[in-house]
Amino acid sequence: MSQRPIYLDNHATTPLDKRVLDAMLPYFTEQFGNAASINHVYGWEAEAAVKQSRETLAAAINASPEEIVFTSGASEANNLAIKGIAEAYFNKGKHIITVKTEHNAILDPCHYLEKLGFDITFLPVKSDGTIDIGDLIGAIRSETILVSVMAANNEIGVIQPIEEIAAICRGNDILFHTDAAQAIGKIPLDVEEMNIDLMSLTAHKIYGPKGIGALYVRRNKPRVQLAPQMHGGGHERGMRSGTLYVPQIVGFAKAVEISLAEMEEETARVVSLRQRLWEQLESIGSIYINGHPTKRLPGNLNISVGGVDGQALLLGLQTAAAVSSGSACTSAKISPSHVLAAIGRSDKLAYASIRFGIGRFNTTEEIDAVAKHSIETIQSLRQAQKVMS
Ligand SMILES: *Cc1c(COP(=O)(O)O)cnc(C)c1O
Repeated sequence: MSQRPIYLDNHATTPLDKRVLDAMLPYFTEQFGNAASINHVYGWEAEAAVKQSRETLAAAINASPEEIVFTSGASEANNLAIKGIAEAYFNKGKHIITVKTEHNAILDPCHYLEKLGFDITFLPVKSDGTIDIGDLIGAIRSETILVSVMAANNEIGVIQPIEEIAAICRGNDILFHTDAAQAIGKIPLDVEEMNIDLMSLTAHKIYGPKGIGALYVRRNKPRVQLAPQMHGGGHERGMRSGTLYVPQIVGFAKAVEISLAEMEEETARVVSLRQRLWEQLESIGSIYINGHPTKRLPGNLNISVGGVDGQALLLGLQTAAAVSSGSACTSAKISPSHVLAAIGRSDKLAYASIRFGIGRFNTTEEIDAVAKHSIETIQSLRQAQKVMS
């Protein structure tokens, strides 16, 4: 087999940490019980594993275990939050505030609600990718039932001031939801201190398994009402029916546990790798960082490259590095990223953008190899453009 490109797409997904796999394995075979089976030891073992995992996850965000609703991932958690709140609170009002740079798993449920008669405000962002707090305050109405702002952006890594946003929501008696799929395990999250009412999580961005996530739903001050979107056996206190996927739940908790324990050390290491990559790339000129220079995820470097064609750039890089141009979820469509458009990038620079997502298993040697290959690619593309013009 020819050598595969270096994996630098850790915002799309991450490899499973071996320690996570080890924790999961027994629950596929010997301890295979249904956590809802109350009559025998198979069920009790599964239930005990779920209970333990729920406690670990709750502790990680300073919540209580009953506030964790397991879902198939952050997309489902976002859908449950947005549609579940809309359905439970429409008598109070039909206005929701979110942001233009959200993940499609927020934007699409919001567009769906518009068709049902809800009014959605999509806040703009500043050129650094953060929202203007004044815009948020200006958008609040008496009918506003929910504000949803992501903790960290999946494309440009920008960290929103969610604590400040949530305080404003609390002061106005409006529920606050945050999509923390990229943030969990990378920046500290405390639902009490930060006044978060609902929060979406997923395992596979932090070296856990795919297909598992959770929605945190506040039970106290205020007690959040949520209309279930999946009806059935009444699992998860009626908020999400379906037999619990025990090995994934165990893996999810293990992944969060490891990420929190190693956050400080990993952040320092990953930031230094990102800095190393950026310094090398920057040296060739006409390369621009997308998003706030410091308020961003440790492993995120999203750049636009001047003087090259976007498609040629991605093709040139692909042999050496697995990276994304725009969001992985939308890269099948050839249209400029909605996030880069929102921060004011021209179509040309948006097309010529690359998202490097550095993660736990990347090494200095890999970063240097990718930097070298990127520089060679960019320089030869620029040279070719000059010859042609
Ligand atoms: C990956 C991601 C999602 C989707 O999560 P899944 O678990 O894959 O459904 C949602 N929001 C953000 C910000 C993400 O990065």
